[in-house]
Amino acid sequence: MLGAPAGGADAADAAGLPGFKPVPPASMGPALNADGYHVGRIEGNLYWVTDAYYQAMFLSTRHGVVLVDASPAIGTNLLRAIEDVTRASGRPGKVTHLVHSHAHADHIGASVLFGDDVVRIGHRANRELLLRADDPNRPAPKVTFDSRYTLSAGGEQLELAHHGPNHTPDNIYVHAPAYRTLMLVDVVFPGWVPFKNLAISQDIPAWIKAHDVALSYPGTTLVGGHLGRLGSGPTPSCRRSPTAPPARHRWRGTDTRA
Ligand SMILES: [Zn+2]
Repeated sequence: MLGAPAGGADAADAAGLPGFKPVPPASMGPALNADGYHVGRIEGNLYWVTDAYYQAMFLSTRHGVVLVDASPAIGTNLLRAIEDVTRASGRPGKVTHLVHSHAHADHIGASVLFGDDVVRIGHRANRELLLRADDPNRPAPKVTFDSRYTLSAGGEQLELAHHGPNHTPDNIYVHAPAYRTLMLVDVVFPGWVPFKNLAISQDIPAWIKAHDVALSYPGTTLVGGHLGRLGSGPTPSCRRSPTAPPARHRWRGTDTRA
């Protein structure tokens, strides 16, 4: 719905009135290649992949690739995107670690593509939810954590954190401090209003609070998990503690007309 193509904008109704305004160009991401994906460098060895509706992030290390999320919508294009990057850099392209942002199938339903050897990592509740789901496409992570986990691989690091439930009970914050990037899925949709029904989020007060938690992270890039573009981090004056009172702010680069 939010991904309605710009070409359909200004469709006229029976009275000849415009149905809706065009999607602002700032909300759209980079063009996709012939295979239907875009892979781009966020910073350093950190990359993102999108099909214009879903996003994944990966870290290229000396020993392989750490992937965050595996949407079935992107599917095998994840493998192509990783190969594009690692073939050019000469670094190993095998995915050694797969981080689950949360248990929803639309974000990790292609987890099975990475086989049995990949080290799957998620919050403890992620394992519980996936064991209950018993979905062969979404094997439960064997490595779990309660509040924080530092993932070190091949000279690179991701800081994983759980700050309580928000979109789902297991949704985590994936921070790449060296590359000033935070991935938080299904909470912030840079350049867009939230999905219908707040993307079926379960704990709405906590979902709202998650915006403040995200703003408390230092950084310049936000990977929101959806649509075709990234977000820009808050200015330093906007950043504050998650327990601070609400303040007026906006993500730099977000188009408030969207
Ligand atoms: Zn979700």
